[in-house]
Amino acid sequence: NAKEQGRNTWCFYNDAMDQANTDKFNLLQRIRAAMKSQSFALYYQPKVCLRSQQILGAEALLRWPQDDGSFINPAEVIELAERSGLILELGAWVLQQACIDCQQWRQQGFPDVRVAVNLSPLQFRDGKLQQTLLAALANSGLPATALELELTESLLIDDTQLVQNQLQRLGALGITFAIDDFGTGYSNLGYLRQFNASSLKVDKSFISSLSVSLRDEPLIKAIIQLAKGLELSTVAEGVEDDATMQRLQQWGCDAAQGYLWSKALPAPDFLQYLQQQR
Ligand code: C2E
Ligand code: MG
Ligand code: MG
Ligand code: MG
Repeated sequence: NAKEQGRNTWCFYNDAMDQANTDKFNLLQRIRAAMKSQSFALYYQPKVCLRSQQILGAEALLRWPQDDGSFINPAEVIELAERSGLILELGAWVLQQACIDCQQWRQQGFPDVRVAVNLSPLQFRDGKLQQTLLAALANSGLPATALELELTESLLIDDTQLVQNQLQRLGALGITFAIDDFGTGYSNLGYLRQFNASSLKVDKSFISSLSVSLRDEPLIKAIIQLAKGLELSTVAEGVEDDATMQRLQQWGCDAAQGYLWSKALPAPDFLQYLQQQR
C-alpha cells in the first residue's frame, strides 16, 4: 500500500544520506587522528615572475599522504575541517610550518624568497588570528613582509568590521594579501577599493581554457587591466604549457604558477628546485 511504499522510499533516501554522513564522519575521525599523529604535510608550489623567470616564492598547499603513495583531495579535507571547526587548529599548524620552512630557505641562500598561505574565512572570524600569526612569525624568525595570505572573495565581500579591522592590523605588520580564485566569486568589485591587497590570482579555470580556445582571452586581459588600474599585481594559476605562458607574458601578467614549472613539492625538494633554477 501507499503508506508502506512511502515509508520504504523514505528509508531508501535516508539510508543513502546515512551512508554519505557516515563516510564524512569517518573521514573526520581520520582527520582528527592524522592531526594527532602529525600525518599532514605541507608542500610548496613555486611562484614565478613572468618577466625574469625568477622564482618569487612558493604557495603552501596541504597534503595528506597515504600509505599507497596517494593523497586525499585537499579541498575535501579543508571543507570538512571548516565545517567541524578543526580548521582553526589545522590552519594554525599550516601557518607555523610554512613560516619555519620559508625561513629555512631564506637562511640557505635565498634571502628574498616568500611564502603564501591559504586562509579559511573561519580563521578570520576566530579573533585569534593575529595572535597565531605573530607566534608563527616569532617562532620561525620569518619577517612579516615575507608572508602573503591568500584570501577568497567571499571573505572580502563579507564587509564586517571585524574582517576589515583584522586586515588593517595585519597589513600594518607588513603581511600582504592576495585574492585567490579571482573571477569565480562575486562580481561586486567595490570591495577591491576598501581593502589593500597586493595581488589578484586569476583562477585556473580561466587559464586552463586558453590551451583549448581563446574564448576567455578578453576576460583575462580585462582582469590584468583592472589589476593594473588598482596597482595590484596579477598571478595566473594553473599554467601548464608554454603557449599559455607566452600569451600571459604578452598580456602583461606579472607572475604565474603551474605544472609548466612544477607541482607542489616537499620543503627540501623546493629548496633543491631553488638551487637548480639559480
Ligand atoms: P588554491 O589555493 O586555488 O590552490 C591552487 C590549486 O591548483 C592547488 O590544488 C594546486 O595543486 C593546483 N594547481 C597548481 N598548478 C596547477 C596546474 O598547472 N594544473 C592543475 N590542474 N592544477 C594546478 P590543491 O593543492 O588540490 O588545493 C586545492 C585547494 O584547497 C586550494 O586551492 C585551496 O583553496 C585549498 N587549500 C589547500 N591547502 C590549504 C591550506 O593549507 N589551507 C586552506 N585554508 N586551504 C587550502
Ligand atoms: Mg591559493
Ligand atoms: Mg587559487
Ligand atoms: Mg583555485
